[in-house]
Amino acid sequence: MTQVKAAAPRALAVPDLSALSAALLLTATVLIAALAYYFLGYDQGAVSVFGSDTHVHEFVHDARHFLGFPCH
Ligand SMILES: [Zn+2]
Repeated sequence: MTQVKAAAPRALAVPDLSALSAALLLTATVLIAALAYYFLGYDQGAVSVFGSDTHVHEFVHDARHFLGFPCH
């Protein structure tokens, strides 16, 4: 008599994040997001990161409108 065994359910590998590493990851994410937000808001075209160059402003122009920064 043969028995058919059901395959054992496989567990997904879940990364073990401790509270400290999660806090560090969230802090780094917030800092990077704040830097990106400052970069988007600072570059007005007339007041630009790279002098009077408007390349950065034009590159992030739609993102500025999406975030509510006035321009023009
Ligand atoms: Zn605009």
